[in-house]
Amino acid sequence: MKLLHTEADLNCLTPLRQRGDLVLVPTMGALHAGHLSLVEHAREIGSVIVSIFVNPTQFGPGEDFEQYPRDLDRDLALLEPLGVTAVFCPQTTLMYGADDGVMVHPGPRADCLCGAARSGHFSGVLTIVAKLFNLIRPQVAVFGRKDAQQCLVIAEMVADLKFPIRLLDVPTRRESDGLAMSSRNAYLKGEERSRALCLTRALDQAKQIIQDGERSTIAVELAMQEAMSAADKVDYTELRQVPHLTKPEQISGRVLLAIAAHIGHTRLIDNLVLAVDNDTVTTAALLDD
Ligand code: AMP
Repeated sequence: MKLLHTEADLNCLTPLRQRGDLVLVPTMGALHAGHLSLVEHAREIGSVIVSIFVNPTQFGPGEDFEQYPRDLDRDLALLEPLGVTAVFCPQTTLMYGADDGVMVHPGPRADCLCGAARSGHFSGVLTIVAKLFNLIRPQVAVFGRKDAQQCLVIAEMVADLKFPIRLLDVPTRRESDGLAMSSRNAYLKGEERSRALCLTRALDQAKQIIQDGERSTIAVELAMQEAMSAADKVDYTELRQVPHLTKPEQISGRVLLAIAAHIGHTRLIDNLVLAVDNDTVTTAALLDD
């Protein structure tokens, strides 16, 4: 497994790119089993490069950029046994010049949910992802369904800016009690860990009432809101249509149930993607193959 830092280091990827099977897994490190399942999916497609970079421009003022967990040695030890070809850990100076510079402006899918709650977040995400795509030039990039809006906003950029890259979304890996794995779970203290399960429960209940026949978006959103009483602050409990993230009145087709809430000082997100027709409700992928 090669450790790459500079633009020149990336030249070693040329033969892999020529073989047509270079797969990128972008991360911010603090790796957990969710990240590793992305790597395992990527490994089935081709030669895997994992990027590790805590991207300052996707954190807002007062968010956790400074405290964000960083442990490169631990991350490398987790990746080594998985057959990863290379890990790219750029310096901030390679990814961002001294000035503010050019930023990518997201499309309309970024206007709601986390885009509404975290001003500038998706511009930061798209800017770093575009830079990684241009530096690494992978044929495939793999993202987690856990960050559903992020997947859809990136897919919109890839389509609109004509990046020649195929995207894949991988299901959310969960702890045994259902909590979605996240690097931020490490912040949860004492009883906060059990209160954090309210996100999982609210999503499960919403799925159940849709399975029982409810087709009103407002009714499902209210049920999720009520199920979130254990949270300290709820940013949103919403149902949106996939892929454009418009709000349907009636639920049908592929929909995203999405929640963001604060447990203590920790902001958590979780979601479910469902395919709903008249009488069947199944979990679904976000992106088409
Ligand atoms: P992050 O390091 O948080 O930026 O995440 C890097 C990638 O891992 C993103 O594509 C995330 O959506 C994905 N990811 C994070 N948590 C999970 C999880 N629990 N299951 C699957 N993928 C995840």
